[in-house]
Amino acid sequence: MSNNNRREPSVAIIGAGMTGILAAIKLREAGINDLTILEKADELGGTWRENTYPGVACDVPAHMYTYSFRGNPEWSNRFARGNEIQTYFRQVAEEFGVAGQIRFGEALERSHYVDGKWQLHTSKGNDFSVDFVVAATGILHHPVYPDIKGLDSFQGDMWHTARWNHDVDLAGKRVGIIGTGSTACQVIGDIAEQCGDLTIFQRTPQWIVKVADKDYSETDKASLRGQQGKLTALSKRYAFAMRNTFSAGVTGKKLPLALMSWMAKRNLRKSVRDPALREKLTPDYPVGCKRLIINSTFYDAVQRDNVSLETTGIERITDRGVVTVDGETHELDVLILATGFSPFEFMRPMELKGRNGVDIEDVWGRKVQAYRSVCIPGFPNFFLMLGPNTPIGNYSVIAMSEVQTDYVLKLIEQWRAGTLDEVEATPEAKQRYNDYLKAGMGKTVWVRGCQSWYLDADGDPAMWPYSWNQWVRELEQPDLKDFRPAA
Ligand code: NAP
Repeated sequence: MSNNNRREPSVAIIGAGMTGILAAIKLREAGINDLTILEKADELGGTWRENTYPGVACDVPAHMYTYSFRGNPEWSNRFARGNEIQTYFRQVAEEFGVAGQIRFGEALERSHYVDGKWQLHTSKGNDFSVDFVVAATGILHHPVYPDIKGLDSFQGDMWHTARWNHDVDLAGKRVGIIGTGSTACQVIGDIAEQCGDLTIFQRTPQWIVKVADKDYSETDKASLRGQQGKLTALSKRYAFAMRNTFSAGVTGKKLPLALMSWMAKRNLRKSVRDPALREKLTPDYPVGCKRLIINSTFYDAVQRDNVSLETTGIERITDRGVVTVDGETHELDVLILATGFSPFEFMRPMELKGRNGVDIEDVWGRKVQAYRSVCIPGFPNFFLMLGPNTPIGNYSVIAMSEVQTDYVLKLIEQWRAGTLDEVEATPEAKQRYNDYLKAGMGKTVWVRGCQSWYLDADGDPAMWPYSWNQWVRELEQPDLKDFRPAA
């Protein structure tokens, strides 16, 4: 306790990616200095550290993809490349004094709630306890390897896009890539020219919208240096546009959805000349059902002479390449798996046990749910950042983390003031919240007949089905009646 009877918490932050860095900055601003930041890797940056594939970029406009309090005048392009984003996070972590506090190469392996404290055990064998755990472990960080017969028998080079092998030169090689999601489209656009032959194995076509990239000149950059006000205004302009087009469209607003559809269909029509190829690239589900791809290189790449689009299903993989169900063998030197991520793992495989030893595996074995995405009944003083139903279609995930971090700080404030003994949402509140989410899903485009990583095993989208503004409003103040009252 401090002199004024406020409790001062100790907090462990798990992960030093975009959200972990943000949480550390905000907690310190709130005067909470007893922080432990654990990072399993040797470098910060999360998804931008792990994804180094050729063409990696963010398809959210760069000036919107920054912390609101620290714009970046140095972006080289409207859609920032991965390495620049990684540099930005490193700079911010250093500027705000967070980088030096990170314990690198130390993963949290066990987290048990005992007598009002979290008892933590790390991969370096360290044991300690804290009042709060903030799991800033991201959403898409467990690569999915496709369940295809013979995958391991391939004798060429093979890797997942999130584990890019930079030692292999693709020049002149026979390269295959499985998948045509956001990642694959960026990769294909970048590598097509250098490959000898590139075969794209497409299971399901995707809708793609082209938003022109733009190089920012030295003059552009200079006009923004030291001008946080201008950077904020620019970010707000992009955010307004994204909110009122893509984010509104996917959640069921008719006009924005019609605009998205028109943009995607027109892009396909205008970009792909050969009607047979166009047919192969035309999805049979509505625009936005799978995450809309924003890309300006894929259609050009797929029309190159050295690139072929294979839509016949994959039967198996052999030592020499991919065999499709028509019996044809596609001999390859390199096989790239652009097969996405498992989005329901969150902080796992960490062992997480809450009140009375309740195991997250048992709680989530039935369904991965949380209260307001952040709190899990049975797991007091534990906050899951970017938890289930956080994502808002094609919007900046940084903005989402900022809103959630403010919400978490307000909850910790209740604990500091003694209004809450422990911060734990009730099971009833979690159920009510998830019923409310479910009620909104019917009008979204995600449930209109496609398969995507948005959907859980029951076919329920792990997304926020209402507007961005509604989400922000609802997280402005914690509703204390949804939490266990102080004894
Ligand atoms: P994804 O969207 O889940 O796409 C995976 C691709 O692999 C799909 O085309 C899928 O086909 C295919 N696939 C999976 N298993 C297969 C199998 N057994 N046989 C054949 N094909 C198979 O993954 P992603 O492209 O990595 O993107 C994931 C998410 O990461 C995106 O939606 C986005 O949120 C994020 N991301 C963002 C950016 C950005 O710029 N902001 C860039 C990249 C990624 P089906 O469609 O048939 O399942």
